[in-house]
Amino acid sequence: MTEELNPFKIAQQQLDKVAGLLNLKKGIHEYLRYPHRELTVNFPVKMDNGDIKEFTGYRVQYNNARGPCKGGIRYHWNVSLDEVRALAAWMTWKTAVVGIPYGGAKGGVICNPKEMSQGELERMTRRFTAEISPIIGPERDIPAPDVYTDAQTMAWIMDTYSMIKGYSVPGVVTGKPLHIGGSLGRNEATARGCMFVVREALQKTDYKVCSPEEWRQRETYEDKPLPDGDEGGGYHFDDTVVAVQGFGNAGSIAAKLISDKGGRIIAVSDSKGGILNKDGLDIDAVLEHKASTGTVQGFEGAENLEPKAVLEVKCDVLIPAALENQITKENADNIKAKIVAEAANGPTTPEADRILYEKGITVIPDILANAGGVTVSYFEWVQSLQSFFWSERDVNMRLKGIMVKAYDDVTGMCQTENVDMRTGAYMVAVQRVADAIMHRGIFP
Ligand code: NAD
Repeated sequence: MTEELNPFKIAQQQLDKVAGLLNLKKGIHEYLRYPHRELTVNFPVKMDNGDIKEFTGYRVQYNNARGPCKGGIRYHWNVSLDEVRALAAWMTWKTAVVGIPYGGAKGGVICNPKEMSQGELERMTRRFTAEISPIIGPERDIPAPDVYTDAQTMAWIMDTYSMIKGYSVPGVVTGKPLHIGGSLGRNEATARGCMFVVREALQKTDYKVCSPEEWRQRETYEDKPLPDGDEGGGYHFDDTVVAVQGFGNAGSIAAKLISDKGGRIIAVSDSKGGILNKDGLDIDAVLEHKASTGTVQGFEGAENLEPKAVLEVKCDVLIPAALENQITKENADNIKAKIVAEAANGPTTPEADRILYEKGITVIPDILANAGGVTVSYFEWVQSLQSFFWSERDVNMRLKGIMVKAYDDVTGMCQTENVDMRTGAYMVAVQRVADAIMHRGIFP
């Protein structure tokens, strides 16, 4: 990977830019440029054929000034320490921008989960958990799912950690299955949060493609109940045209939620390629097709696309929901969306960001657009600690309150400082983390 695409260098550049705008003290800026703690583990796993295979994994705790560290665990062949560092930094800014009491962390294991059996994945997960167990825990650092990890992975982590402790510790992870203390609404939370901020952007920018009906009472959105039977927020997407890259947890659910609300999803993709139907895709049918064939490609009635072509289709809203560095200086000029909502972490490089800004495209940055996942993870953690569980309505309503407030905080900063939305979001977040550090003081 070139230095230009190194996610950690990108994360540092993003911080450097706002440190100047915020007049951060030099020492605080320097402190925030590096992770607080990094653990690398090399560990053996017994494979199904009897071989013993060595794996490498990481857990990076970037900053804990605002609370325990929080962040997902990724299983992917391209996992690297710099990628995990960047993702941990972005978690720090994300928890700050939505104002939940966490710091940021991330983990990853270099592996190809697509080529491993369930038994191998379970043994790898349990051994990795044991290796990182000295630094995780409900008060210290709480993992969650990320790319190619899911509720089952979290159940194995929770069980392994609990075995080490000698009692059940449901608060050690979020994104757990419901029957062991997971939260209603967690599985859809990243996508739902993304949908909420996309709706805000559609309503509050010049692209008023939605009905102008006021769907929320601004002052009371925290405790105003949603309309009956409407867990999504009480509004419609009125044929907004949407393309989604990545068809996993974040992407496929965003596509489903938006199409259920009247949006027209014309293109989606996964790691094997994309599909396009300008009249709109039946997302339930695409989900079934992907479940039976392993890819969205070959879906009847749609044209197949090259993997990255989905980014360049003409649409109102483009949702990158796969991996980092998808929109680069090579393809940014070809993006035809009015709004790019970053459900993925780090999908746009800084050079591409500049190009999109110059083209007048609104980019809702990752630390805001995909913060719904960690927000409902926070709700799950609270429920696990209290052993008291909320209804899905409560979860979705509180999520909406937090996402809309964060959107307003960020756009407020953008207006005051005359900056783009990524810079505005970073300014809100970095200032909050810096304030926490200053208030706590530097130990000793
Ligand atoms: P996932 O494993 O459920 O899905 C990933 C999807 O991306 C799969 O459909 C895969 O086929 C596709 N993909 C992989 N490489 C691709 C490529 N080159 N082109 C097109 N598609 C490709 O993962 P996820 O949880 O949906 O995570 C996706 C992104 O969202 C990541 O950046 C992750 O960090 C971010 N995110 C996820 C959550 C969450 O709660 N799951 C929260 C915040 C951010």
